This record gives sequence, structure tokens and C-alpha cells, in this order.
Amino acid sequence: MLSWRAGFPYPVTVHTTADPLFEMNEAFDAAKSLLGRSDEESMRYAALELRRCIEAIVYGKLKIYQDLLPGDSIHQWQPPQAFDALLAVDPSAEDTFTFAVGPQTEFDKMSSGPFTTIGVDHRPRSKWLKKTWNKLGHMVHAEWPFAKSRPSKQTKLDFLRKTLQELDPYVRSGFSSNLSLNVTFECVGCGRPVKSMERVLRKAGATTCLTCGTPYRAEEVDGEFRFFASSPPWKCDCGAATYIPPRQVRIGYTLACRSCKKEFKVVGQQWMVAENVEAGAGEDDSEE
Ligand SMILES: [Zn+2]
Ligand SMILES: [Zn+2]
Repeated sequence: MLSWRAGFPYPVTVHTTADPLFEMNEAFDAAKSLLGRSDEESMRYAALELRRCIEAIVYGKLKIYQDLLPGDSIHQWQPPQAFDALLAVDPSAEDTFTFAVGPQTEFDKMSSGPFTTIGVDHRPRSKWLKKTWNKLGHMVHAEWPFAKSRPSKQTKLDFLRKTLQELDPYVRSGFSSNLSLNVTFECVGCGRPVKSMERVLRKAGATTCLTCGTPYRAEEVDGEFRFFASSPPWKCDCGAATYIPPRQVRIGYTLACRSCKKEFKVVGQQWMVAENVEAGAGEDDSEE
């Protein structure tokens, strides 16, 4: 069954039958039962289930930020890239925090308590997530016959059991939440909406279009945000725009169009010379 979010200018397709919360628990239990045995075959399957568990945890977090992520990119992300995107929209996406409510006695004033905890949102650290996800990936592939050293069966088993333990708090809590006020504007590069959280804009003074990669500087004037694009993105014949960081542009640099995947290569640089009118005006000023 498919559905899409009302209110978002472009439909975001969500498979309502795929529930990351359910899958996270299912994969965790399967890994736990497989690690009760210690033969190589069970370990390989345990690595697969742990990887699936991490994926479900990340997709669960992705779902709560769904409103801030471009619909056509969400479907292409693997957990490491998905987590990078989460950190781009919310630098605190990797901080574990507790949600609590308390009675409000005065309008517009923060409650002084007592507070009742609603839940703890456990967030994995990006560095740990990428390292663990890649390491688990190595364990499900055929061994490289030319490796200088290979980990012992015990080392692998210890790593898998440690990972299971580390995943336990995310699976046990299963609570995810994000409260935010968002600002939307249209990207000058690709024309798609860029959604950013107000608190992040205030703190970072910048945002990025997650569709084409164009970075923006954000300025708040009288409670309204204004956005200024860094150098414009490069446009392919198919019409899709992709931002290329200027420091990466050198002869021989290759890039693929994000839409039609056609490959391009930087083959040269062109210098243009024109009369320096400003310098001429400067001289006149100094003579006076
Ligand atoms: Zn864009
Ligand atoms: Zn293209």
C-alpha cells in the first residue's frame, strides 16, 4: 500500500507495510538467536541480521525527518549516506536526548516541573554507525585470499556479540521524535524545495539543498530568513543541476549527472580578459 504526505509540494512515497520498528526488533532477535550458536555459518547470518537491524534503526530516524528530506533522494540512500543527510538537516541528529513534559503555569514560559519522561530517543553516533556497518559487510562476503592477516573466529564472534550489546538500547527504546519549526524555499539550482529547521539555521547560518547539493548562507532579518546560494550549480543537457565544490574542480575531474548518470570530465579552463573599468575610475579619483 502506498501513501503520500499531504502538505509537501512533491509526493513522498512511503510503503506503509514496511515498519522499521518491527523490522529492527525482528532482526535483533534473529541475530541474538544465531549468536547463541558459534559456528561460522551462524556468525555470517548473524552479521546479516545485525546489518539489517542497523538499517531499520536508521530508517526509523529517517522517517521522523521525512518532512525535511527530498522525496526523490530518500530512496537512493544506504544507511551511511542517509545518516550524513540527517546530520546535514540536523547537526544534533546523532545526540541521544530525553523527552519530558511538565505543567505550564505561565503562558510562554518554560515549565519548572515536575517533569514526566515520555521517552529517550537513542541516536547512534555517525562514526560508530559507518564503521560497524562496513565491518559487518566484510563478514558476509567471501574472504579476500591475498589478505596479509585475517581475524580469528573468536575475534569475529566477540565483535558480533559486542555489536548486539551496543544495539540493545536502540531496539529496547524504539522511541524517535523530532519537534521543529521549518522554513522552505525553492533551490535556485534545481528548483526543488529546500526545507530547513529554524533552530539549525540560527545556529549554523547555512543550509544545503539535499537534491543538487548547492550550499546556501542563511541570514535572519526581522524574523525572516534570506538565503544566498554559493557559486551556481552546473547544469547537464538533461536539465538536472548538480553542485560541484569549486575546490574540487581541476582538469581531469570526472562527475556524473545526478539524474541521467551521463559522465563528464573537466577538460580545460577558460580565462576571459576585459578592460578593468574599476581600476581606471580609481586612478581618476586619486588624481583629484
Ligand atoms: Zn537544489
Ligand atoms: Zn543529465
